[in-house]
Amino acid sequence: MRPVIGILALQGDFEAHKRAVDQAGGNPVEVRTKADLDAVDGLIIPGGESTTMLKMLADEDLFEPIRKFGQVKPIFGTCAGAILLAKEVLNPAQDSLQLMDLTVERNAYGRQIDSRIVSLECDGKPLEAVFIRAPVIRKAGGDSHVLVSYNGDPVLVEQGRHMAATFHPELAGEGAIHRRFIEKVSASRK
Ligand code: GLN
Repeated sequence: MRPVIGILALQGDFEAHKRAVDQAGGNPVEVRTKADLDAVDGLIIPGGESTTMLKMLADEDLFEPIRKFGQVKPIFGTCAGAILLAKEVLNPAQDSLQLMDLTVERNAYGRQIDSRIVSLECDGKPLEAVFIRAPVIRKAGGDSHVLVSYNGDPVLVEQGRHMAATFHPELAGEGAIHRRFIEKVSASRK
């Protein structure tokens, strides 16, 4: 059975993640309420604006349920989602779920280079990474494992059941990163 992958659908580019999850062999479901969350095996927190998402999580009473979800089930945060997963957020400091040992600096590439597409490698395979007002992971500590770096900074990190990317794997590439997350979700269901 296809693992059910929830996609937080309060704000940001959740539609593109739905397509990517479907193509990668998962069953994508939009998550807007606690009941939606209870029905999924893993969760993707998409890119968007982390400050806005935080506010909406508070308004919808989803902050604490997602934090608890992350203590037992996998979460993949991309861009703003990675900011929400981090233990510490800078520029400016803001609240977060603190589910991964990451220190993240928001909008760290500066205004001039708002977005760019970069050719990187993951597991020896080419990876097109789309950065949009991306954060920089200043520190990946604990037992976190850096899978991909760009300019010496981690851009794809795995820690236990969770994954964080500062770029947008739903916008380019052939799905390897979504497949990796779906595999983690399948493994955690067993
Ligand atoms: N700049 C956004 C933030 O700080 C993240 C951008 C994105 O998700 N593409 O929340």
